[in-house]
Amino acid sequence: MSTGKPRAFILGTRNAGEFLHAGARILSDGGTALDAVEASTRLVESSPGDSSVGVGGIANFLGVQELDASLMCGRTLRTGAVGAIKGFIHPISVARKLMEEAPHGLLVAEGAENFARVMGCEAGDLETEESKKVYTAFVQDAFEHAGIDESQSWVLDYVRSQNLREWYTRLAVEHHGTVNVQAMDADGNMACAVSTSGTALKFPGRLGDSAIIGAGNYCDNRVGAAACTGRGELSIRNSTARTLIHYLAEGSGIEAAAVRAMQDIHALNSFGGMNCLVMDAAGNTMSATTVTGRESIHWYMDTTSNEPEKRIGINVPKPQ
Ligand code: ASP
Repeated sequence: MSTGKPRAFILGTRNAGEFLHAGARILSDGGTALDAVEASTRLVESSPGDSSVGVGGIANFLGVQELDASLMCGRTLRTGAVGAIKGFIHPISVARKLMEEAPHGLLVAEGAENFARVMGCEAGDLETEESKKVYTAFVQDAFEHAGIDESQSWVLDYVRSQNLREWYTRLAVEHHGTVNVQAMDADGNMACAVSTSGTALKFPGRLGDSAIIGAGNYCDNRVGAAACTGRGELSIRNSTARTLIHYLAEGSGIEAAAVRAMQDIHALNSFGGMNCLVMDAAGNTMSATTVTGRESIHWYMDTTSNEPEKRIGINVPKPQ
């Protein structure tokens, strides 16, 4: 017999698969969507094997991990986001604290770190052997390509050498990633969490879409949730996550909304790829990518699942 309650479920990007168990368990126990998405995201953040999120994330241009994260509550439309935060293992929990404890919605860099400290968030070393290796290779590459003397202030010289843009274009394809986790709980409340170490070897201080509500994250109980991975500069320009919710609200089906948002990315005619993860209020899920040859996938669990289910999304090619 139906209880009249919506079914609770959780979904996440390609790198979230095994970590959805934690969130699904919370939902099965009657917990909230906010707790579920935070729990699963925290596991991705502390997993050293993921080179694009939290511990093991690839460093910035100066060899330091700088993390971006955001959380949105679909019931209240309250948000919390942190950008370019260093030295904290779980930026998603700092974002949650901000959402719940502060009158602000976005804190960056030192301000975010001070807030995290005051809130007792877990500090720690984000570097791993692998992330160190990638950074060392970057420095060597910089020396070779720009002919920079090690005694010089090589970063500035590298920028001045004008090889940066060419090199950066290549690099952004090799090292990138973000985790998106969305959920609906048994009360029909939704939440969306996004966390990343951002574009690898980025300029210090660069904020990506993951920290920017509307660009990389949006959630509204009345409509659905949307989040992005990929070159954040593109979703910032299009407010992709909010636009996806707008497309759903005006009547596009979930697949049509995803296609439109990815076509909007192509229309920018810039470099880099974009991917989105979307769910609607009816419990439909979809993922899409602009990247040629890349299969779009996402993972899904509800309270009856034993294992995450792999769902295939859509590839939206650039129009000829
Ligand atoms: N969207 C992230 C950013 O731009 C990175 C990524 O997903 O590749 O910071």
